[in-house]
Amino acid sequence: MRNKKQPVEKHPIHVKSGDRVVVISGKDKGKVSSVKKVITSENKVVVEGANIVTKAQKAQGGNQGGLIKVEAPMDSSKVMLYCSACEKATRIKYEVIDNKKVRVCKKCGEKID
Ligand SMILES: [Zn+2]
Repeated sequence: MRNKKQPVEKHPIHVKSGDRVVVISGKDKGKVSSVKKVITSENKVVVEGANIVTKAQKAQGGNQGGLIKVEAPMDSSKVMLYCSACEKATRIKYEVIDNKKVRVCKKCGEKID
């Protein structure tokens, strides 16, 4: 029997740190916020103020332990880029302007980068 390993399919993440995005599924659906962090290896993003989970934190150093609220990473497919011109979530396309690849809104052509 052949035991062929499936190659890991890498999906480039369509957003990057600092992008304005709209959450399109989950409990924060509809929320517009910005990307705090992109975890490429897991295809996940951390969005400011979205997907908040409560974590127990141990007392450490001078800090008292307790419950803290942190943004949990969510799947990058759950966010879409936000176009400030359309004022809604949008699909993007890539265009080359001045030899630079930039992302533009598919609907209105607004440059997002
Ligand atoms: Zn637009």
